[in-house]
Amino acid sequence: MISCQGASCITTFADFLCSKIAPALRHAIYEKTALDIARDMKVKIPDFRGNRSTLETCMLKYLAEEENFENFKHYLNFPGEFLNNYIKTKTYCLGENRRLEMFLRESLTRYYENIQSAVFASTRVVKDRKDRNDKISLWLDEFCRALGDMLSLPRSDLKGIEHQEITDIEFLNNAMTEALSPLIDDLRKEFPHTILAEQFAGCQSMCPFCGAVCTNTMPNHDGDHRVVFHRPQVLTGYRWHKTDNLIIDICSSCVSSDIYFMTGEYRWFQYKRYRDAGHPCSTWNIPPDPSMQAYWKWFVSYFRTQLEQYYNGKFHGRGEIPASWKTVTKQNALTELEKY
Ligand SMILES: [Zn+2]
Ligand SMILES: [Zn+2]
Repeated sequence: MISCQGASCITTFADFLCSKIAPALRHAIYEKTALDIARDMKVKIPDFRGNRSTLETCMLKYLAEEENFENFKHYLNFPGEFLNNYIKTKTYCLGENRRLEMFLRESLTRYYENIQSAVFASTRVVKDRKDRNDKISLWLDEFCRALGDMLSLPRSDLKGIEHQEITDIEFLNNAMTEALSPLIDDLRKEFPHTILAEQFAGCQSMCPFCGAVCTNTMPNHDGDHRVVFHRPQVLTGYRWHKTDNLIIDICSSCVSSDIYFMTGEYRWFQYKRYRDAGHPCSTWNIPPDPSMQAYWKWFVSYFRTQLEQYYNGKFHGRGEIPASWKTVTKQNALTELEKY
């Protein structure tokens, strides 16, 4: 409960109200701006024009061009974070600061005008109601109603100020206008890029065997997780049991074999019956498919030494890299990616 008197009371009231508006406004504006930028990116940058698989392919091309093992590690271990950075880099190419500033300013202006007109409208309704003593309560009712769906500002959050004895409603109008201005400036300072990444991220679930990220565009989607191509399991560091042999097999081949795998709880299951292993295996659909992208054949051959070092294993024994992989060039890998 706030208590005060006269003009300072009105200022306190306006400040309180703005402090309640701020989080809702911040959320609405960031979301709106993120949507605007996402739409812009879809039009202007080919990487974002297609679906989640297209974006994945673009990231793989980018990684191959850079040929930097550290980047690959980041991509394989923290795909969500990598995507965030990728989006940041790409939007930066668009002249990010200028566009971000432009979209932010546009939605700020729109919301600012709407809030102001809600202030004016409520003042107009309440001003001449000589019959009412609880003018502030009435003003707040009107204000929340006028904001409507634009901002979620529950009337119940404003109970602390509804008993204020403010009689000078015109003055309140001005105080509100004044209190809103710094709020708008604050919003410009820190735009969260993660909210932009959410527009493209889709499902973030990773294959429990090879780490490939589900290509469904919806987070929390119905049905099983899937990917078009699984990858050699060495990409998540798997080795054959009790050996230093890195696993170059792909999950979609394993599921049609008689091979077993061990879960984190040291329980053995046949790949054929991988769903029996429970969560997260049971949430994936991995149909048998022996085809492996040339990309990963190139990657494993090219970064062989780094992979052995990083995962503390060897490409020998059951993990021997087939001679045919070694002849796959980066260009082969990229040309094949173009087809999808
Ligand atoms: Zn997989
Ligand atoms: Zn999924």
